[in-house]
Amino acid sequence: MRALSRYLILGAFLGALVFSSSPVLAASPSTNPIPGNGCLFQNPVIGGSNLQDRLWLDPRWPEYYQRDPDYPGLHFNTGQWAGLDVRAKLKLPFANGGIVIASTGTSRDPAGGGFGVVYEGLGPCTGWITSYWHNPTPVAYEIGQVLDANMPAGTPGCTGFEDKCGIDAIPPHSHWTIGFQSDGDPFPQDIPAFNTTSPNPILGSIWWVSGLRLFPDSRPAFAPPPTNTTTPKPVTQKPQTPTAASPLIGLLLITLIGVIVLLGVSREKRFRQFLTIIAATIVILGVLWLLASR
Ligand SMILES: [Zn+2]
Repeated sequence: MRALSRYLILGAFLGALVFSSSPVLAASPSTNPIPGNGCLFQNPVIGGSNLQDRLWLDPRWPEYYQRDPDYPGLHFNTGQWAGLDVRAKLKLPFANGGIVIASTGTSRDPAGGGFGVVYEGLGPCTGWITSYWHNPTPVAYEIGQVLDANMPAGTPGCTGFEDKCGIDAIPPHSHWTIGFQSDGDPFPQDIPAFNTTSPNPILGSIWWVSGLRLFPDSRPAFAPPPTNTTTPKPVTQKPQTPTAASPLIGLLLITLIGVIVLLGVSREKRFRQFLTIIAATIVILGVLWLLASR
């Protein structure tokens, strides 16, 4: 019986110690759903309108836009790159800018893209490719030219589908694509990606994804949050409010009262010494906790 109460006290004491020394763990939501890459994305819509609001989705072909089940709008035909049709002037989706790596120049894309231009990200965005099709005029940038994050990168137009362009048909838009160069597994692995035939062999194998997945404010309100396969990193936070500290103080106080009661009941000398040490330790821990939480 005495041994049991000793174990109970020791358990309560260790419990109080663990609670008082363990930091409050909180999972921080990832701001970038792409695992394993440090590229920082930005909303490409010049003026900052929500990308979802600027999408063109033709009601005549609902299935055409369902390549990404959670983020509607991603589409392509054979030989084309998977992308979104956007009715807005666009800049690069890379917060660090990018470089022109391909352009149709004054000729037109034979797959229906009209005047098109392709950029690659810089720094941590190297390997990310973005392109803009149907520009109304040949793109003025030279291959190798570097663009900063705010320069215009693509203009809505009708080149490549001139015969269908109009008020009651397809409106002027940019077919905007973004993807990651990878010869191996599709990347990112938890996001629907499409390795469509590349019309330009210098770009290699690219896995196209929905631009709607790349930065938080582009996400449609009705879509579920993207699945993140990486384990969120726990963030250590110091308890900042008295309400966070009071349960721990309460636990220490209850343990202290229990020890004092046992001190009064117990008659064995060695056990009383043991209880006194525990009581003193709890008092010191409580004082230290109060000092630390100031
Ligand atoms: Zn399109």
